[in-house]
This record gives sequence, structure tokens and C-alpha cells, in this order.
Amino acid sequence: MSQTLLQELRNGQVPDRLKDLARKENIDIPVLIKNLLEGTAVVLGYRTGRGTMVVGKGVTTKVNANIGASTLTSSVEHEQEKLRAALRARTDAVMDLSLADNIVEIRKAILSESTVPVGTVPIYEAATMARIKRGAVIRIDVGEFFECIERQMKEGVDFVTVHCGVVRDLIGKFPPEYRLEGIVSRGGAITAAYIRNTGRENPLYQYYDRLVELAEKHDCVLSLGDGMRPGALFDASDSLEIGEQVILGKLQRRAFDKGVMVMIEGPGHVPLHLVEKSVKRIKRLTHNAPLYLLGPIVTDIAPGYDHITSAIGAGVAGMSGADFICYVTPSEHLGLPTGQDVFDGVIAARIAAHASDIAKNIPGAIAWDNELSRARKALDWDKQIDMSIDPETARRIRRERSGEGACTMCGEYCVFLVLKDQKDK
Ligand code: SF4
Repeated sequence: MSQTLLQELRNGQVPDRLKDLARKENIDIPVLIKNLLEGTAVVLGYRTGRGTMVVGKGVTTKVNANIGASTLTSSVEHEQEKLRAALRARTDAVMDLSLADNIVEIRKAILSESTVPVGTVPIYEAATMARIKRGAVIRIDVGEFFECIERQMKEGVDFVTVHCGVVRDLIGKFPPEYRLEGIVSRGGAITAAYIRNTGRENPLYQYYDRLVELAEKHDCVLSLGDGMRPGALFDASDSLEIGEQVILGKLQRRAFDKGVMVMIEGPGHVPLHLVEKSVKRIKRLTHNAPLYLLGPIVTDIAPGYDHITSAIGAGVAGMSGADFICYVTPSEHLGLPTGQDVFDGVIAARIAAHASDIAKNIPGAIAWDNELSRARKALDWDKQIDMSIDPETARRIRRERSGEGACTMCGEYCVFLVLKDQKDK
């Protein structure tokens, strides 16, 4: 069996590809190696070469876009359209969260077209097979589940979300019914229902060593899912959430010790004043492994605008140490996103990620802002638009509403012209 990247580094081998990656990520190679060896950074897309990137300490905050079909709306073409929208908005990664009958077809289409690392949630395929073959999503067959995991890894999935921390003991002690919104992670809910229905343990927890062996064999990054994440501000930082994080910390070590790179997923809904505390607690409990956050959403009252509620949380979370931001789209909590929703969600998450990079003093982050500011002062519209995070939108607004020179916002009173006039005089 060939070695994983982590095992190679532990044996003192430094692949040339990693050196190239360090240059691309603007990080010194010894620092990158140290972070990988400490488990505070991971490499996504290393094995497949699909948009290889580093997530974690010392590099820019990365963004993921979730796409995928549901049982009610499912078309390969629609998912391809969403993938293209995510790539156009320059997402760093995508996840296929399909829970539809044509899940395999959709995944293969995404894998063949994506130029960035692709993640999946294998329990979705196992649950889909259970629904089709045995009539209920919770009738998961453990052997079939592990076959799904290996099949997806063989197909070239770069990272998998596995909800290993949803365990019998935890949901027995802290029944989710006491929460305002119960369990809102789909993987978490399916796992909890399986445990309650069968009385058996979560197979991903019971056979964790088998899961780690598969990840090692295929050098696939494990993303330990937050099956108990709060879905309402009221439920943030409760015993279920923190109990799961304690378990994930232990599981992170077990996989990491075997040479498997691991990320930790974090909570979905968190009041703004608790975001920093929440990020720091998860980092402390999980050995500072790269933290992959959904949002977090900082208020529950804005359906239709959750790309904004989550970007607010993501900025603070990134500044506090989160490494990988999963976008949220305007259609969150309402319906399956359109291509435009995906685009808007990625841009909102990228703005938050970049703002947090400035706060984290990531090399080169503020230089982007400074250069754009110079172009703005010089009324150099082409440069300003080209350097914008979303040139498409900036160009359209400029074209529709302004001509040459200053924009229609202030016209002749444009501050840059007024100050220039005064200087010239
Ligand atoms: S017209 Fe006003 S808004 Fe437009 S560039 Fe000048 S100062 Fe800025």
C-alpha cells in the first residue's frame, strides 16, 4: 500500500508537489510541513490533483460551496449549472450533498467537471440505497455503508464528511427533543434515527478503525461532521454539541496517528457574541485541527438573506481561527438553491474569508485592498473592477449607471475630483 502524504512527511520525504503547493499558498515549506505534521493543516485534492490546496494554519481561509439534489428536485444538469456557478464565483471546494435517486450519476458528473476538490457525505448514498431497497432511510446496511465509502474514495472524492460523533450514549443522556430545533444535520438526524430504531451504535463510531483504514488506503481527508450542530441560536453550545466535540477530538487523534489528515466541522447557528468563544473551544477540544464551519448563522430571523447572516458569522469565525468556511445561500431554510443563489453564496463567503484573512494578518491579504483603493482614488475603473471580488457584478452596475469619469453617486462632487482640483489650484 502506498503511503499517505502525512506518512511520507513523517518519514522525512518532501514531495516536489508539496513544495509547489507551498509557493502557491505563499507559505514557507518548513512551516507548511510543520503544520501538516502537527495536524493543524491538511491538503485537499492532493491525490487527485484537482485544485490542490491547503486548509488550516498559516494560509488563507478557504471557501466551500455545497451543491447537490434532493428527492423532490433532482437533475444532473441543474447540479452542473450550480457547479459552474460556484466555480465562476471562485469557490475553493465543492461538496455534493445529493440525496436523490440519481446520486451516483450526479456525483460522477461533478467529479468529472470540477476543477476544485470535491467532498461528499457517504451516509447520503447509504441512506438512499436503504430507501430504495428497503423502504426507509434508516434501514442502513452497515456493509453497504462501508462499500459506499470505499466506492466514493475510489472514484476520487477528496474529502468525506463522516458523522462519527453521534453516539448512542450521547443521545441517550441528552435527548435532542429538549432542544428548540432538535437535530438539524441531515447526517446527524439519519444516524440518530438509526441508533434509536435499531438500538445499535453508530457504525462509523463502532467501526471507526475500518473507516480510518479506508481513508489511509485512499489518502482521503476525513472531515469529522457536526451531526449535533445547533440549528437555532437557542441551542448553541449545549451539551449535545459540546459532547460531540469532545468525542471528535479523540477520534481526530486516532486517525491522525495512523497518517490520515483530519478536519473538524463546526456549529451552524451561533449568536455573534459566542462565535469567537465557540471557535476557540472547538479548536482546544480537537487539537487545533483545521476547523470547517457552516456559516455560522448569527440570527435566525432572516430567511432569504442567510448568505448575509452567515457571512457575518464567518468573518468573526475566520478571525477567531476557523480555516474553511462553508457558504450559505439566500435559499437556505427555504428551498434548493439556484445557480444564482450559489454564486451569491460563494461571493458572500469569500468576502467574509478575505476579511478574516486581513484580521489574521495572512501575508498578502491587505495588499489586495490597498491596490484596489489606489485604483479607486485614481478613478481607474477598469482596474478597480478587474480587482473586485465579483467583477461581473461591479462591471454591470458601472455600465448601467455611470459613464466616463466620476460615478453618478456624487457626480461633480466626487471627493477624488474635489481634492485633486484643490491640489491642482
Ligand atoms: S462619485 Fe462619489 S461614489 Fe463615485 S467614485 Fe467619486 S466619491 Fe466615490
